Amino acid sequence: MARTSPVRRRLIAGSLALPFVPLARVFAGNGCVAPVTNIIGPAYRKGAPFRTRLCAPDEPGTPLTMQGRIVDAATCKPLAAAVLDVWQVNEAGDYDMDSDAFRLRGKIKADALGRYAFDTIVPVPYGRRPKHIHYLVTQPGYESRITQVYFEGDDRNATDRYVKKELIIATTEHAGDPRTGARLGTLDVALERERPPEADSEHTYREYAGRYQFTPTILLAVTAQGRRLFWHADVHGDDDDGEPVDGEFMPRAKGRFFVPEYDFEVTFVRNEHGSVDHTLDSEGHLSKRID
Ligand code: FE
Repeated sequence: MARTSPVRRRLIAGSLALPFVPLARVFAGNGCVAPVTNIIGPAYRKGAPFRTRLCAPDEPGTPLTMQGRIVDAATCKPLAAAVLDVWQVNEAGDYDMDSDAFRLRGKIKADALGRYAFDTIVPVPYGRRPKHIHYLVTQPGYESRITQVYFEGDDRNATDRYVKKELIIATTEHAGDPRTGARLGTLDVALERERPPEADSEHTYREYAGRYQFTPTILLAVTAQGRRLFWHADVHGDDDDGEPVDGEFMPRAKGRFFVPEYDFEVTFVRNEHGSVDHTLDSEGHLSKRID
């Protein structure tokens, strides 16, 4: 591969951007909080700023403070370094998909006791979906949790196929909030430790094989050969310099791989049915599986 290839530039850029962010899979826990996953949906944007207020005090809608704890699913101990990435619609039912303001989106770092809180508004329903706020929670050494919180009293909670009862909360009056009519909601989130590569790699590697839309112009083809996993990037459009690019994934943990040539990591992400349907790279990009 030439040094100027777009994939190399992309991978190098990724390696400088963010520490590795592991991703979730469904797994039963035995701790004080059940680990409950939910779909990520199409509205995630990476790059939201760290802040505890997702909107100005005069944002149209019912004021809401969300709070809770991030804990180890096995021990119930607080995870002090956990980072939440949250996103939701505004009073008109719209996500901010492109503005630099990242309206009603933000990252929040848990405190020393694993506690978090952020100010926002109660989201409204849109389409078939009930009111919900999306969460992506990460902690080094743990599998990230993709989930959502839903709100009691929304008729669509009974008809939307993605709603899980454990994720529906009742809000209460928030007496301490100066905003008129403010509500308070609580959602605790449990994370599970990353597990090392397992003896069943030959089976699981076959599950990862497929094609993933890495960027609009780069298609990543993943193939399994026994206990080895390989990648090949097909580059199209403006980024196409005519060079096929390929290499081998080196296992770092179950579902997480290192590409040593580029100091780059990819995690295979399972959905709520246990199927591998995305990759997450070390820059925070999600790549959707297309077949
Ligand atoms: Fe949504």
